[in-house]
Amino acid sequence: MTPRVATTTASTTTNLPEQLDVLLVGAGFAGIYQLYEFRKRGYSVKAIEAASELGGTWHWNRYPGARVDTTIPIYEFSIEEVWKDWTWKERFPGQGELEAYFKHVDEKLDISRDVVFNTRVLSAKFNARTDRWAVTLDDGRTVHTRFLSLCTGFASKPYTPAFKGFDTFQGVKHHTSRWPKEGVEVKGKRVAVIGTGATGVQVIQEIGPVVGNLSVFQRTPNLAVPMFNRPVEAKEQQQLKDEGLYPIYYKRRTQTYIGLDYTWTPKPLVDLTPEARRILFEELWVQGGFRIWLGNHEDVGTDPVRNDELYAFWRTKALARIKDKKMQEKLAPAVKPHPFGHKRISCEHSYFEIFNQSNVELVDMSETDIAEFTPKGIRTTDGVEREFDVIVLATGFDSVTGGITQIDIEGPKGTVRDKWAQGLRTYLGVSTADFPNMFWVYGPHGPTAFCNGPYCAVSTLPSPRSAFLAFILTY
Ligand code: NAP
Repeated sequence: MTPRVATTTASTTTNLPEQLDVLLVGAGFAGIYQLYEFRKRGYSVKAIEAASELGGTWHWNRYPGARVDTTIPIYEFSIEEVWKDWTWKERFPGQGELEAYFKHVDEKLDISRDVVFNTRVLSAKFNARTDRWAVTLDDGRTVHTRFLSLCTGFASKPYTPAFKGFDTFQGVKHHTSRWPKEGVEVKGKRVAVIGTGATGVQVIQEIGPVVGNLSVFQRTPNLAVPMFNRPVEAKEQQQLKDEGLYPIYYKRRTQTYIGLDYTWTPKPLVDLTPEARRILFEELWVQGGFRIWLGNHEDVGTDPVRNDELYAFWRTKALARIKDKKMQEKLAPAVKPHPFGHKRISCEHSYFEIFNQSNVELVDMSETDIAEFTPKGIRTTDGVEREFDVIVLATGFDSVTGGITQIDIEGPKGTVRDKWAQGLRTYLGVSTADFPNMFWVYGPHGPTAFCNGPYCAVSTLPSPRSAFLAFILTY
């Protein structure tokens, strides 16, 4: 399968002065927005970006089936210049469309001219004499900046478990977040997918119909819910814009728990009759995506009895789509693996049906673990060796702190890595003591993985999230 190839071209030749007011690390939603704001206010600002183009997570995560699980227009910038003439094709856009969106953002806001692409920040050392951070890049340059803003997101450092014999495998293997731009041929191949998180679910349902054989290594079943994606007409979007709905949608994001256009109902579910509860669940279900979870009554997350009721509802839906009894129990067990919604729910469209194919097996890692990678494939602890042409590592990230601690950051009293090794300490989820004028958004103790990225990474409303932006802008 060959994903769409990016069209944004970016240069590494961006002029980078030795002295700056603000240096941003990363040019995804957060970095782009900050660059736009700081520049508008007359600060000297540049962003350093390891990728060759804008987009952050949407640049890196180009694995087959990568798709956002938040609907449009909630998942986008609320900058009028950007939204007024941008039109999406799908309710839940795929990675290729998001890549095109970032190109549009660049055309509108002229971001790339202040981004140094294909370059990594290696270290940042605070100089107490000058009150500046000396930031070194992997191209040998050093920049001295007053403010260091880490827009590194929560999932920029891939996690690959230390599998024994990992490098001995002779076939093709890729972590999903480092999927080659030119794609990987999986048609007719023997493929393994390790991991069944949001990424694993998307890869499995995408490649399942075309691979020769598929082995899914599952540690925890994914209580995935249907997305019910559909194409969206340009005129449908234009009408909402014409009627003045877009600013209302964006405002609504500021009023809900996780920055969507809907939220939990604060009344107990038990106040409804069993029949009314059932109808409610059905209504939320057919709306697709997270509604059944985050648009439900609050106590489905806090009352174990109501949570069981929701799990039972979900399970009935899942079982109806899985033919084999044993497979039913592995994918949708009678005893819930964890409270419904306490582990991030994923969205899918044909995930469960893939397991009805005769060429798809599920390796239940609660029964047999991965013992080692071999030159031909993977051997499990039961002694079975499976041979593969392609191994897909959908094993997630060194989340939340990893993007920051992979940089050697040294404040006046030591490194951030050493400090956080003793326990994560932050101020309002935007800074940490003894690292002066260093801030982040969408990182440790921020709403981060529990929030709609484009909103939470850029919010300029009075909230802890924007405390640092307000601080810098009024300094
Ligand atoms: P993830 O949720 O951390 O899932 C990693 C998977 O790998 C899990 O199934 C995990 O099992 C498994 N795993 C980890 N170590 C393993 C090992 N040693 N052996 C076997 N299996 C192992 O990562 P992700 O799926 O990439 O998702 C990360 C985050 O990215 C999501 O929470 C979401 O916020 C975001 N995301 C969003 C979208 C979207 O918007 N549509 C799509 C993809 C990802 P356990 O569950 O047992 O730990």
